[in-house]
Amino acid sequence: MIKVKKRKILLLPGDGIGPEVIGEVKKIIKWFNDKKSLDFEMDEDLAGGCSYDKHGSPITDEVFYKALESEVVMLGAVGGPKWDDVEFSKKPERALLKLRKELKLFANLRPAICFEQLVSASTLKPEVVSGLDIMIVRELTGGIYFGEPRGIKPIENGERKGINTHTYTTSEIARVARIAFDLARKRSNKVTSCEKSNVMEAGQLWKEEVQELHDKEFKDVELSHMLADNCAMQLLRNPKQFDVIVTDNLFGDMLSDQASMLTGSLGLLPSASLGAKNKDGEMRAMYEPIHGSAPDIAGKSIANPIASILSFAMALRYSLDLDNEADALEKAVQHVLNDGLRTKDILSDGMKEVSTSAMGDAIISKLQ
Ligand code: NAD
Repeated sequence: MIKVKKRKILLLPGDGIGPEVIGEVKKIIKWFNDKKSLDFEMDEDLAGGCSYDKHGSPITDEVFYKALESEVVMLGAVGGPKWDDVEFSKKPERALLKLRKELKLFANLRPAICFEQLVSASTLKPEVVSGLDIMIVRELTGGIYFGEPRGIKPIENGERKGINTHTYTTSEIARVARIAFDLARKRSNKVTSCEKSNVMEAGQLWKEEVQELHDKEFKDVELSHMLADNCAMQLLRNPKQFDVIVTDNLFGDMLSDQASMLTGSLGLLPSASLGAKNKDGEMRAMYEPIHGSAPDIAGKSIANPIASILSFAMALRYSLDLDNEADALEKAVQHVLNDGLRTKDILSDGMKEVSTSAMGDAIISKLQ
């Protein structure tokens, strides 16, 4: 059993804009080490298409073991059109799935907060998104992305059949629902559980298990159930009705991307993927922006690093028990937005456009 090394942070910048945005996180980690004497041990390695190019594999065993012994993994993004024709098992995205699955990171926390300064950057009316603060908890290691059998097989008449299997066990549902209920207690005390219990047995089980856990341990939390398609609609109609949404891997993937647009840009949204605590209270975790490698803007120094920087703030809070430092970093981001600095994706009239690294530098200057 590989032990987690306290305060060890592994950076996996990945592909496309990944190295650009994680470069800004690196500066912030260095700042905390230099100015606050925090003894973060930082290491950096390859994952995704860059690893495939060098080693023929999206993640090598060596890097995987480094991830296993790190308290925090900070990932940028992986993938891009360059690797479209790579065999499925070696695609850059397999690195992500392997890390999530093997580190047993079953709970993906995706906050969607609409900063007051960016209300106008949303495509929705200001009154619909102003003050928005939702936490989406997505199950991350089960469901249709991992279920067996899977594959593409030939069938009669020269046709082919694509197969994926959606499965959940009671314990898989209960452990992620527990995270959602715990989080709700620290927020507005409301959980909405989303599934398709009207057409899927796995959805029916999901609903029953969430309800059972609620009735046994979380009666003080307000629980409602909603069909996932209705939730997609309600997120656009009246998103502020939600506090914590808990849902499966597939629906969570889509609903959280949809929620991101309520806030203005994919470039703003962080995420945390958490595992179970072991008997020593240690937890493996990976933090990453929810956006991808954005090949359309890679190398142009216009990527927004805020999603990655806020992901590091989540690492400070959830893995490193440094709430004050997390608050300080989140406030620094707010101050920079108050000053009117914007990367291109969130630029509006009267604001000043800055590059990726100028945004990182401005956030550091506010930390000072
Ligand atoms: P994407 O998130 O990379 O980009 C979608 C759009 O949002 C693009 O127009 C992009 O320019 C913009 N965008 C994204 N992040 C931004 C940022 N920080 N600042 C400014 N603009 C930003 O999604 P996509 O284009 O569908 O996918 C591109 C590649 O990324 C694909 O290979 C996909 O598989 C991969 N991907 C990886 C992850 C991950 O590593 N976690 C997640 C999603 C997609």
